[in-house]
Amino acid sequence: MKALCWNGTNDLRVERVPDPVLVNPHDVIVKVALSSVCGSDLHLIDGYVPTMRPGDIIGHEFLGEIVEKGPEVRYLNRGDRVITVSIIGCGHCGHCQHGESSLCDNSNPNPDYARTAYGHCGAGIFGYSHAFGGYAGSHAEYIRVPYADFNAFRVPDGVSDEKAVFVSDAVPTGYMAADMAGIRPGDVVAVWGCGGVGQMAMRSATLLGAERVIGIDRFPDRLRAAQMKAGAETLDYSRVDIFDALQAMTGGRGPDVCIDAVGMEADSGSNAVEDLYDRAKQAVGLQTDRPAVLRQMIESCRKGGTLSIVGVYGGLIDKFPMGAAMNKGLTFRMGQQNGQRYAERLFEHIRNGELDPSYLMTHRLPLDDGPQAYRMFKEKADDCLRVVFAPQG
Ligand SMILES: [Zn+2]
Ligand SMILES: [Zn+2]
Repeated sequence: MKALCWNGTNDLRVERVPDPVLVNPHDVIVKVALSSVCGSDLHLIDGYVPTMRPGDIIGHEFLGEIVEKGPEVRYLNRGDRVITVSIIGCGHCGHCQHGESSLCDNSNPNPDYARTAYGHCGAGIFGYSHAFGGYAGSHAEYIRVPYADFNAFRVPDGVSDEKAVFVSDAVPTGYMAADMAGIRPGDVVAVWGCGGVGQMAMRSATLLGAERVIGIDRFPDRLRAAQMKAGAETLDYSRVDIFDALQAMTGGRGPDVCIDAVGMEADSGSNAVEDLYDRAKQAVGLQTDRPAVLRQMIESCRKGGTLSIVGVYGGLIDKFPMGAAMNKGLTFRMGQQNGQRYAERLFEHIRNGELDPSYLMTHRLPLDDGPQAYRMFKEKADDCLRVVFAPQG
């Protein structure tokens, strides 16, 4: 089959690879109809995620049709139109049972790297390095889905492919960011990053009761989408000082909830010296992640407020304002998404017309255009929010 493979930093190639086969009795094979790019793929492409190997297939947000199933798959059938949560759970361990499937004890067959780096090992992720399980990704004609009954969800009638595909990753990640922040009616929620996840976090914050939502980015098309589609007020961090602007908008209190939908490759925009310092340290390997957004959130958040982090971090950061966080009594919530606990609820919101993620799909392209499509996505050219590949043509 045809697949989009990682071959090194900034080196993606469309290649011929063997078709996936059933490995375990609880697997299914999905014929991929749509497979979306994601901001976290850029960390792979930029070379910030270790244990990638040449030939690895990337992609983790997808929709398709089940064409084969193992003997222990009970609830799903051949011909089902499904989405699959990008973070893989086993469905049986304590974490999966308690709705935190991204912490699954069983779905990562290569636990040693994470154990060494993090102390414990979390879940496997499709197309996201060997440290996260070495699972083949979805930018391909077919993909193997393990523990299918737990990870794949039948798309309800009346929900289009274009809306459903994002229930794989962008929607639950944004929804979880808002959910774990414990938003209360009347809250002001600021969201750093107006890409796919940030857009969904803003919309979810409103669904969960936020009174005002403020989106922060520097790309005009993303800020426009935040206003028009997610109902947010917006700030351009290349033009205004974010701390000053957020205090002015909240009577000097600061937002009740600050959401990070950016992650490890952040820029502060307003503080060039700080950005240079972070980039220099990251370039020579003295820090792996750039914490510009985290610093701004800690400074801007109201006393006693909550920081909710779904932007991806990989390793160590430097110049972290722990004193401010401690003395302001901030609460930190964070994690990879636990989409399995949200998928049904999110389909319900979509069916009720309360949520429409389809505008994230600004470009739909064949898999052959993969390398150029990622370049466009990375440069945020042509008002690109997300490219979705159609591997079957
Ligand atoms: Zn993702
Ligand atoms: Zn599990």
